[in-house]
Amino acid sequence: MLPLPSRITVLAGGVGGARFLSAVRAWARVHRPDAEITAIVNTGDDMWHVGLRITPDLDSIMYALAGVNDTERGWGRVGETERVSAELREWGAGWPWFTLGDLDLGAHIARSAWLREGVPLSSIVPRLTSRWDLGVRLLPATDDEVETWVRIDDPESEAGAVERVVHFQEWWTRYRATVVTHGFERRGLAGAAPAPGVLDAIENADVVLLAPSNPVVSIGTILDIPGIHAALQSTPAPVVGISPIIGGAVVRGMADACLDVIGVPTSAAAVARLLGARGMGNDGVLDAWLVDEVDADAVPALEAEGIRSAAVPLWLRDEPTGVQLVADALELAGR
Ligand code: GDP
Ligand code: CA
Repeated sequence: MLPLPSRITVLAGGVGGARFLSAVRAWARVHRPDAEITAIVNTGDDMWHVGLRITPDLDSIMYALAGVNDTERGWGRVGETERVSAELREWGAGWPWFTLGDLDLGAHIARSAWLREGVPLSSIVPRLTSRWDLGVRLLPATDDEVETWVRIDDPESEAGAVERVVHFQEWWTRYRATVVTHGFERRGLAGAAPAPGVLDAIENADVVLLAPSNPVVSIGTILDIPGIHAALQSTPAPVVGISPIIGGAVVRGMADACLDVIGVPTSAAAVARLLGARGMGNDGVLDAWLVDEVDADAVPALEAEGIRSAAVPLWLRDEPTGVQLVADALELAGR
């Protein structure tokens, strides 16, 4: 058993990341109120749109931890209106299938104004989040513009298969990931660097947790930022992942579509193998991996492959189940 960790670093995407970070914060309030929780957040879904820089995963986490998120709809701000988007549609600006809420646009306008003044994203995030006591420090994975783009057969083409590269947001929201898809591109990756504080948060953590986020476009993008994968391989902290896949299906969202694109089966064990074991010459990042109880039969094989594993309830239903899941992850980390 390790002593209860006081420096907890979490790699996170949007909605799954937000739910898990709420659980980590709830665990800390009960067991370790002085814990410093740092989230390294995916920025691969970010984009410029109608002149504004949109950062979906950072915002999902900020709104959820602040308690101003729309829990019914599952994204965006509660009490949101869409007057500006309706007006943009009348002007023919932006995408007709993509709506931004008015309150949400306030954050995008502030962020974009500061970016244009030369303020890096990692300094803008604390300005935005300082409005609330989140209990979690949010770090963008990188200050550089690294974006996930998707190579598809253009469904609008009438002349047979014509390849087109679209932003992840268009693939996901407009096409619901149902078009013929050839692969992902990470634009801007070459020359990108981790944001200030990211490597330090990994190297000096007591434990690193991988949230049950999209393993391809959330966790995968963070790991691809030059330097982050290496930091996870060399940190003295144990690295524990939580499966976003339960019983061969995603819990929420469409991560299975992303796994299909890279040819990885939608299973808890396959995602663990994608992330890989670390140490002893292995080139992955995991010491340990939590699967759901329904996937308990995957545990012996993963253990034989060098990934310490355990089967526990992985549905983040409410605060008690979240606190228990984090306790289970920390127990496995110390085993
Ligand atoms: P996005 O950026 O909003 O798509 O969100 P993330 O990348 O953080 O996470 C999406 C993933 O979270 C999906 O693949 C879901 O399967 C997973 N997820 C959401 N809720 C839960 C939950 O309660 N338990 C587990 N284990 N996974 C979850
Ligand atoms: Ca996302």
